[in-house]
Amino acid sequence: MKLVIVVPCYNEQEVLAETTRQLSLVLEELEAAGKVSEGHILYVDDGSCDDTWNLICRFSAENARVGGLRLAHNAGHQQALWAGLEWASVHADAAVSIDADLQDDVRSIIAMVDEWRDGSDIVYGVRRERTTDTFFKKHTAQLFYKLMHAMGANVVYNHADFRLMSRRTLQALVSFPERNLFLRGMVSALGYPSAKVYYDRKERQAGESKYPLSKMLSFALDGITSFSVRPLRCISILGLFFILISLVAIVYGIVMHVEGRTIPGWTSLLVSVWFIGGSILTGLGIIGEYVGKVYKEVKRRPRYFIEQAVGAVRKDS
Ligand code: UDP
Ligand code: MG
Repeated sequence: MKLVIVVPCYNEQEVLAETTRQLSLVLEELEAAGKVSEGHILYVDDGSCDDTWNLICRFSAENARVGGLRLAHNAGHQQALWAGLEWASVHADAAVSIDADLQDDVRSIIAMVDEWRDGSDIVYGVRRERTTDTFFKKHTAQLFYKLMHAMGANVVYNHADFRLMSRRTLQALVSFPERNLFLRGMVSALGYPSAKVYYDRKERQAGESKYPLSKMLSFALDGITSFSVRPLRCISILGLFFILISLVAIVYGIVMHVEGRTIPGWTSLLVSVWFIGGSILTGLGIIGEYVGKVYKEVKRRPRYFIEQAVGAVRKDS
């Protein structure tokens, strides 16, 4: 059982030595307990401009567990993670993804491996409490999860990108051909047997957050638009709602007109504003439905993954 811990790093020189030390200890423990035969750490340097890559080279020379991939430019956290997971899908039996800053509890990796050995293909690391986050981060994050659910994208509450994935789920994941990555949504869309491991999220060990508000907002927007065409459907619903209002307005306008309580032109204006507004929005919504279909088709996602097969169809029988 070969396990790879994939760690995306962007300008993480302050924390990398400690990360290597702590992850190595966990892997040693797993090997000593016979739960893993080989444990590796794979750093993916996401185009850092500080000493991160030199450190990775040094650690890999000193420590046989450590390896590194260097991306040619800052492609972003999700892309860097993908690069590591793609490598792991070929070379490992399972991969754990974790941030470099030690905010996630490295000891939970042991519990994840136990769940994996017990038959789970995906083990989500779920934060118990957001006590170390600022008031702002905590509430914006909660809003994000609620919005994602309302928009129909299925994500595990309070789970970021700290998780274990078995080889077959990694292979399933890398068969997604899309370029806009929202990994936590994609992984939960795979649907293999999964488990959760709860942990307390800590403060960043050293260095600064590489996710300012602007990046967080574009990530959230990416998440919604990558997984849902519901915003497009909202336009149709709004349009139909406006047409309904126009019907009420027509009745109201005619009654007022007959009773002579209007000034000339008011009735026709009132009715046309609502009706035209509603028709335009409905038209846009219908176009949106087609755009949504085109969008789903161009992604060319795999249609299904077979979780189990029995009897004569089994590959190894
Ligand atoms: N990261 C990356 N590329 C980027 C930004 C971040 O690989 O463009 C990595 C970073 O090194 C860290 C992880 O993504 O390992 C999460 O970033 P960070 O801890 O700064 O985010 P936060 O926890 O503040 O949301
Ligand atoms: Mg962090």
